[in-house]
Amino acid sequence: MKVCCIGAGYVGGPTCAVMALKCPDIVITLVDKSSERIAQWNSDKLPIYEPGLDEVVKKCRNVNLFFSTDIETAIKDADLIFISVNTPTKISGNGKGRAADLKYVESAARMIAEIAQSNKIVVEKSTVPVRAAESIMHILRANQKPGIHYDILSNPEFLAEGTAINDLLNADRVLIGGEETPEGHQAVEKLSWIYEHWIPKKHILTTNTWSSELSKLAANAFLAQRISSINSLSAVCEATGADVSEVARAVGLDSRIGSKFLQASVGFGGSCFQKDILNLIYICENLNLPEVAAYWQQVIDMNDYQKRRFSQKIIESLFNTVSDKRIAILGFAFKKNTGDTRETAAITVCQTLLEEGAKLDIYDPKVEPEQIIDDLTHPSVTESPENVKKAVQIHSDPYSAVRSTHALVVCTEWDEFVDLDYTRIYQSMMKPAYIFDGRKILDHERLQQIGFHVQTIGKKYQR
Ligand code: NAD
Repeated sequence: MKVCCIGAGYVGGPTCAVMALKCPDIVITLVDKSSERIAQWNSDKLPIYEPGLDEVVKKCRNVNLFFSTDIETAIKDADLIFISVNTPTKISGNGKGRAADLKYVESAARMIAEIAQSNKIVVEKSTVPVRAAESIMHILRANQKPGIHYDILSNPEFLAEGTAINDLLNADRVLIGGEETPEGHQAVEKLSWIYEHWIPKKHILTTNTWSSELSKLAANAFLAQRISSINSLSAVCEATGADVSEVARAVGLDSRIGSKFLQASVGFGGSCFQKDILNLIYICENLNLPEVAAYWQQVIDMNDYQKRRFSQKIIESLFNTVSDKRIAILGFAFKKNTGDTRETAAITVCQTLLEEGAKLDIYDPKVEPEQIIDDLTHPSVTESPENVKKAVQIHSDPYSAVRSTHALVVCTEWDEFVDLDYTRIYQSMMKPAYIFDGRKILDHERLQQIGFHVQTIGKKYQR
């Protein structure tokens, strides 16, 4: 079997790499319209950082895994084509909220329709609104050449950045949605056969297409909802003296609830949670289900509130002014073990501090300096790009980032931040020295013994 995947990003790359590793009898070609990205996939410096990915790519590249910009040949040759392009959020045409922008999915579908000369199974890997498969089929059928048959499947991806390889190797479940017709069942079986190379059959779940599409949005909405729920309680804890870690432990020990995803923090980020909930909200509004839309909107509103609340706490603690104060930001990625900064909470924190006149010293072990500057000079940022560039310094070492700063803010839970020499850091900072732990990863008692004023999420500050 020959497989093609359109879109060599955070999902397409790791997914095809693991598939190639586990399916030596399948030839996989990963294509992208970005020649720069493809060149990186073919080099020693891959375009994304993901633990374990380098090793898998090195093993399979040019054996049964190929990276190419020749989209036409890859589509022509393939029996099965994954569409794994980005599906960002856009302001909807009717001005009624923010919808998924399917322009890249549409262009991939059009390319397939134009190029295909044989039967194809087309698989939605991208996260899409419910019934997007119908639109893809519409494009394919409208341009169908005689004698060519298309099947369309939904096969959403549940990997999480930072643990993608492990998530793909040991998936909780693989979900395949297809048409409830004999041809649809056959197509589902063909895709299922690929996954059965390494996923136990009982973990491969098949549903109708719409259930599969909705399940992906639902899964991300549930995960984000848990974070917003515990974050909402963190505000109550800070006001009352309860400790959110103790509350989370007590709540999570109830086997009906479980302990995962109950870590209070500065807020969730990443390219998916907010986007997929907005997608769900938009669908609900269009289905005239405003109460359901409002329910999910709260998850996003709570996250925005948490990011603002944390940023405000920093300012208030520093005598209500950060003007011309140096503040070290440790971590810029939206979570550890990734270099991805899409929707990272660090952007809100940095933006708020910059608007108040702070000077920022930023360190992240995996995010490229250009990316940080790009994010902070984005048109949505109120500060002018010139001011931002003057006020921000990017460091390649955490100790240089914290030197002569008034405060250190942890925005990402990188393991290396736990083991830094905080006595050395304390000595190099202005006094009083503050730490704001937005990820609750540091040993606060020890930091207080060293002399720091420590503030965190979900615990009342005691001077
Ligand atoms: P990404 O931006 O990293 O990669 C998408 C790639 O598609 C880009 O390299 C882009 O150049 C390419 N592309 C776009 N249109 C193209 C076209 N017509 N032809 C060829 N290439 C094209 O995006 P991603 O993070 O990999 O996400 C892809 C999809 O998977 C999205 O729908 C996302 O919601 C979903 N998803 C993402 C994650 C995640 O953690 N990132 C997890 C699960 C699902």
